[in-house]
Amino acid sequence: MRLPETLRIGILTLFQPQEVTLAAGSRPATLHLDERPVALPPGRLCRVAKDAGGLALWQGERRLAIGTHLAVAAEDVTVEVTGRRTRLRRHFCGTLTVTPGEKHLQLVVTQPPEAVVAAVVSAELSPEAPSEAAKALAVVVRSYLVNHVGRHAGQGFDFCDSTHCQLFFGEQWARWEAGRETGGALSGLGKQAAADTQGEVLWEADGGLSDAYYTACCGGRTTTPAVAFGMGQDSTTATGVRCRWCREARFFAWMRRVDRRTLARALLPELAATESWNIAVAGRTPDGFVTSLVVQAGSRQITLPNYRFRHLVGQRLGWNLVLSNRYAIEPHGEWLVLRGQGFGHQVGLCLAGAIAQAQAGRHYRDILRHYFPKSACHNALQTDF
Ligand SMILES: [Zn+2]
Ligand SMILES: [Zn+2]
Repeated sequence: MRLPETLRIGILTLFQPQEVTLAAGSRPATLHLDERPVALPPGRLCRVAKDAGGLALWQGERRLAIGTHLAVAAEDVTVEVTGRRTRLRRHFCGTLTVTPGEKHLQLVVTQPPEAVVAAVVSAELSPEAPSEAAKALAVVVRSYLVNHVGRHAGQGFDFCDSTHCQLFFGEQWARWEAGRETGGALSGLGKQAAADTQGEVLWEADGGLSDAYYTACCGGRTTTPAVAFGMGQDSTTATGVRCRWCREARFFAWMRRVDRRTLARALLPELAATESWNIAVAGRTPDGFVTSLVVQAGSRQITLPNYRFRHLVGQRLGWNLVLSNRYAIEPHGEWLVLRGQGFGHQVGLCLAGAIAQAQAGRHYRDILRHYFPKSACHNALQTDF
């Protein structure tokens, strides 16, 4: 296995747009619609919308062209989408294609893997983060890319741009929501971290690639993919480790409340009217990670794996409720109080911990050894996997 020369990243995958606006910058852009060139003069906008199984290009009320496959040099345009509450603007490098997906437009950016590594590090870390933490993250990001290339092959790309795979916002990004603007750009930190670790991946002692992940804050201890995702076998290297480095982080310990009925409706809509309803943690690993929950509704009792519970709650009530896989649920009358440690799936590199270790003067390879004790850095450029 070797990283391909380019990777295809599905963009705006969570947004699922029916329509996007492409804006030319200070140079003219040339859109290629089914190989036919459509010129977009400097500063002009063009809407791309799904249209009877294909794509339609609009300028104001005027339809410019219809087709099925649009390609453009990504640096020549900015992409903008508008939803009911949010507006996003993104700028990419490489090639951008737009096709009519089954339910929404499918946008794919194609870039060399090292550019993707730089973009993911830039999306995850503030430009002021210490460089050794960024380098450790770059190695983990690259290892993930090697391991999971083609993860979304059925949808026509390799990786999505959300935390399902790895955060990818491109060269520049802005978001407007509730009158507030946030954004960022590909950072010198991200580019330098990718360049300084070029080709390096994590390699297991037994000669295989490590299945490497990163998480925002482990909350004192990491766990394995089998516990967090409910899939894959625990490899010899995939053991959790202790981490004292993220103790000062915002989500080291957290508390959230939810009322019973809201949670009941989210989990089992058909049982929403049931008077007596309860949920409790049913299973834990010896180091405290939740593996299953039991829901009691009247005479029925249903056991849910933890990964399924978190996914259902995340999709229906938002991802800001059950923040990690290590938590307790306490009943307080109509309310349930969740108290937990860490933020994210808690597998692999702890980002908050890596930043603290780098601030304490540790080298990125020491940081990686801490979170992947049975793996070593290895230069993928010199090896056929
Ligand atoms: Zn994905
Ligand atoms: Zn940690």
